[in-house]
Amino acid sequence: MVTSKEIMELTSTYGANNYHPLPVVIAEAEGVWVKDPEGNKYMDMLSAYSAVNQGHRHPKIIQALKDQADKVTLTSRAFHNELLGPWTERVAKLTNKDKVLPMNTGVEAVETAIKAARRWAYEKKDVDDNQAEIIAAKGNFHGRTMNAISLSDDPSATTNYGPFVPCIYKINYGDIQALKETITPNTAGIIIEPIQGEAGILLPPEGYLQEVRKICDEENILFIADEVQTGFARTGKMFACEWENVEPDIYVMGKALGGGVMPISAIAANKDIMDVFTPGSHGSTFGGNPLACAVSMAALDVIEEEGLIDKSLELGEYFAIELSAINHPDLKEVRSKGLFIGVEFNKPVRPICEALKKSGILCKETHETTIRFAPPLIITKEELDWALDKIRQVLQVNE
Ligand code: PMP
Repeated sequence: MVTSKEIMELTSTYGANNYHPLPVVIAEAEGVWVKDPEGNKYMDMLSAYSAVNQGHRHPKIIQALKDQADKVTLTSRAFHNELLGPWTERVAKLTNKDKVLPMNTGVEAVETAIKAARRWAYEKKDVDDNQAEIIAAKGNFHGRTMNAISLSDDPSATTNYGPFVPCIYKINYGDIQALKETITPNTAGIIIEPIQGEAGILLPPEGYLQEVRKICDEENILFIADEVQTGFARTGKMFACEWENVEPDIYVMGKALGGGVMPISAIAANKDIMDVFTPGSHGSTFGGNPLACAVSMAALDVIEEEGLIDKSLELGEYFAIELSAINHPDLKEVRSKGLFIGVEFNKPVRPICEALKKSGILCKETHETTIRFAPPLIITKEELDWALDKIRQVLQVNE
């Protein structure tokens, strides 16, 4: 048998050094549980950054994958396929928008949203040639392409990658005054995460999303909500914007849209925005492929059929209360919506994550001092209690 150690060595010899994973190899997975090649079992408390909300290898999603794999997997958009119609209808109805444009990864959907907003600004708003502006929030994470890192203010994501995409302005997350002052006649839109994930599960001040919506309406600019990580029941709502009853102009979706089985992402928007795309103006070979669409339909079924929105809400509340009650001198704050939970400490948390791994829980720091707990939403109360016991034990030792 090839050991975990050998696999990790091979990966670091030939693989680029662009990640800093915990020293564990996942060889098998089912539901909330994963196993390494040696047979050690762990509870997954990261869910591949919220892509596995439905649990690993959900039988219904795997069945959909197999069934579709037996028919056709890829057509490209040179031809129609049977799945794209029903799938776009499903996502359009889910988001209450007219139209849906499929892509593959979260960042591609972000790119698509920004391209849509710029085109919309030139065609429907009459901004100056080549001057359409995008506003972003500091601390954001929208992905790794040039457009996405141009939105970022994180040096580890941006250093030595310039020149960056111009006409991007960054304001403090939650700062309404800054938004008002940054808007110009050339502003096309603002892109924000309704809860900042990679920044450490940062919730905006209450009423922020509503204020942003109001200003976007007044100023005729687009509200682009990046729901790649917060979407699909993760926060106890289908989309996190619902926490403030806000409808963005463009939804950006990814991750759990594919149930952790296939990469699939999308934007959804009304006709007046989506119609700026014409044949040849945007696309992707794999975007909207029948395999991913079939998987995504099943992934959406699972969220509905298994009541994952309510589960996330109820278990998330319970988990957050129990975590807050832990007495640890360096525990600063627990922030949460549903099973999207950040526990901030007054010190770096990597050693705690490593200790949790030793006791059977896989989680990851988000930002140096915050642990993110985001288990698959199919987790049971018993499993959560098991995890809580382990977390309490580890934190006692790591005081
Ligand atoms: N937007 C947000 C809010 C994200 O959290 C992420 C991934 N963590 C992305 C975009 C990028 O998604 P992907 O890695 O699939 O490109």
